[in-house]
Amino acid sequence: MKDKIEKLITNFKLRNIEVIYADTLECAKNEILNLVPTNISVGIGHSATLQKMDITKILNDRGNTVFDKELAKDKEECKVLKKKALLAEWYITGSNAISTDGQIINVDHSGNRVAAITFGPDNVIIVVGVNKIVDTWEEAIKRVKNIACPLNAKRAGFNPPCVRLNKCVDCTSTERVCNSISIIEGQSVKGRIKVFIVNEDLGF
Ligand code: SF4
Repeated sequence: MKDKIEKLITNFKLRNIEVIYADTLECAKNEILNLVPTNISVGIGHSATLQKMDITKILNDRGNTVFDKELAKDKEECKVLKKKALLAEWYITGSNAISTDGQIINVDHSGNRVAAITFGPDNVIIVVGVNKIVDTWEEAIKRVKNIACPLNAKRAGFNPPCVRLNKCVDCTSTERVCNSISIIEGQSVKGRIKVFIVNEDLGF
């Protein structure tokens, strides 16, 4: 794993993406809280990893303006928070997979997370466990569609075929959760995206 992570760090650097390695989620959380200024707005992309960090509450309590759809009381407010997160100064999210080749792969139901990672916030932090590392973007898409999508769909209360079959059948179901697939191959602005790799299994 050490060799894999070293290769990954080199490949991400070539693509203008910074990688920070953390032994535990707690270490990553402390580094992130030191990195993010206290007087700015932060958008949050929904992620089991971030929920485990309780990052929304911590940022809110210390004075950041936080746009997290999980704080919404209803569907309309959820939509507003997702839009505001797109224009936040910083954005923090998890990811479905990263490759040792240096790509970041995500699928979204409504597309808000992949949009914010792509463009909008000036700084993006992505937190991933070592369980999300694969070698190539092709493997990442396989992982995302056959592992992450069924579990995410179930968690969110959707019922596309992969929930029952535990594999993707490239459905056109109205319950489809992978409506947008994004592969981040690099950044024009050096260091805009920082990937925290945590030496733990996090999310799915
Ligand atoms: S295309 Fe359908 S079956 Fe495949 S992962 Fe997406 S929601 Fe599941």
